[in-house]
Amino acid sequence: KGKKESPRQSWRRLQESIRKTSADLLRLEKRLLRKFSRQESDIFYSHRMILSDKSFQKKLKALIARGMGPIETVRDVIGEYLKQFESIDDPHFRERAGDLEDIRQRLMEHLIGNRLRGKKEILEGILLAETLVPSDAARLDPKAIQGIVTERGGVTSHAAILARSLGIPAVMGVKEITHKVPPGAIMIVDGDSGNVFINPPKEILQEYERIQDQQVGRLVHLQALAHFPAETQDGRRIILEANVGMVGGLKNLRDSGAEGVGLYRTEYPFMIRKRLPNEEEQYQIYRQVVEEAAGLPVTFRTLDAGGDKPIASLDLTHTEANPFLGYRSIRLCLAQPEILKSQFRAFLRASAHGPLRILIPMISGVEEIQQVRVIFGQVLDDLQNENIPHNPKVAIGIMIEVPSAVQMAPILIRHADFFSIGTNDLTQYTLAVDRNNERVAAFFDPLHPAVLNSIARVCQVANGAGKPVGVCGEMAGDPLLAPLLVGLGVTELSMIPVSLLAVKDVIRKIRADDASTLARECLGAATSSEVRARLEPYRHLLSDQAG
Ligand code: PEP
Ligand code: MG
Repeated sequence: KGKKESPRQSWRRLQESIRKTSADLLRLEKRLLRKFSRQESDIFYSHRMILSDKSFQKKLKALIARGMGPIETVRDVIGEYLKQFESIDDPHFRERAGDLEDIRQRLMEHLIGNRLRGKKEILEGILLAETLVPSDAARLDPKAIQGIVTERGGVTSHAAILARSLGIPAVMGVKEITHKVPPGAIMIVDGDSGNVFINPPKEILQEYERIQDQQVGRLVHLQALAHFPAETQDGRRIILEANVGMVGGLKNLRDSGAEGVGLYRTEYPFMIRKRLPNEEEQYQIYRQVVEEAAGLPVTFRTLDAGGDKPIASLDLTHTEANPFLGYRSIRLCLAQPEILKSQFRAFLRASAHGPLRILIPMISGVEEIQQVRVIFGQVLDDLQNENIPHNPKVAIGIMIEVPSAVQMAPILIRHADFFSIGTNDLTQYTLAVDRNNERVAAFFDPLHPAVLNSIARVCQVANGAGKPVGVCGEMAGDPLLAPLLVGLGVTELSMIPVSLLAVKDVIRKIRADDASTLARECLGAATSSEVRARLEPYRHLLSDQAG
């Protein structure tokens, strides 16, 4: 170690590392923008915003002024933020913690002058890491890395989502994995089951080699389906669409076989800013999405804030005993109609550039949708008067995700151009089980007959009115459930893009009348285990390549 530097020198060095880190982040942002779309690259935009944040800078300066070195300063200041974030029991805040860790590592790297990326080793193409931060994931070369295993982080972290969208199998949260793997070990990373094998016995190795061969064949088979319709053997046509939110895959929408975006979650631009994005900022984003969709319709959902989707600029910090039952989603938007208005104006302006629909979340009764319609009508009038180009016939749909909306469906349908069933929340609210609480995870079951009967009722109402009805919750992306959902009467399924072709494959192999019979049987089941047993005979459809 050389002689101690003055606070002024320390500050200059720290500023230099911040500048370099910002430049790195900007490069990554641009690279991701080329590879994917605005939604992924925004992660690094938000990192850059943290670096230039005034209170962040002030904290750094205070420690430097007290004579602390730049490395220790970065460690302590970010460490303090991290402690706060990690103490909050919420997956989104934990994701932000991962982001901060990323920034800390980068700053330290530049201060030390060499690479310090924690314990990371590539073993036979498998990346082992204590933690994976978003910029690591963005730099990964899917051709060089065959799998990722980390000690910390969950399936909903930005890094995990990026890895998944790059098509790299990843298992997060395996305790002590970086210590357990001897050099030169052979590993299997099963991203589907979450299993990790270290030096597995020959039988397992052979089994996975067989699975791998099969998967290659299956991928080829599936890719060939991209441009065929999702149509049952007896001619029932189902529209398959992609769920898009913070990670896009929008540029490859057509390759994934999607016929549009069935759910565009608009929360992300609201999450990463300290203030609400204004109409113009939103318009730029929505317009880009519509343009990237290149003529395929995009379903934009209005802000679904609150509950598990905290938004700093909305001041949702005051504690509510039951945030999921509280001030959130459309309730919040109706209480602060300027938010809804800015979204409607931005959507409608984007509608001049390509087809889109609007989806309203968390409707629990008729008054809410009536109020929404009034506000929407005003916005339409305003745009008309201001001579701003837009499509005046944009469809408005209602998300069915609250049990009361299921009951009111026959009246709600009069106010909706389409229904979209949010089975994640519908399951949560129907079964009274927190969708994010691992202690009651066993109770969270979208195959519960109560949930299935709700879906059936909603489909029946929409079908009777001749209006589209889709499922956009996670269950829509499970190919084993496709026959059941078709049988229940959905006309659309919207899911993460990677699942789309597998679901299409199953739909093309079944008959709609068989699916209806299956659905009837499942609706009469007493338990979800009974439902699962009835689905078992369809499992062979998931692997049978011949079709
Ligand atoms: C749902 O609730 O099923 C849904 C699709 O919306 P989100 O997961 O964003 O709440
Ligand atoms: Mg929901």
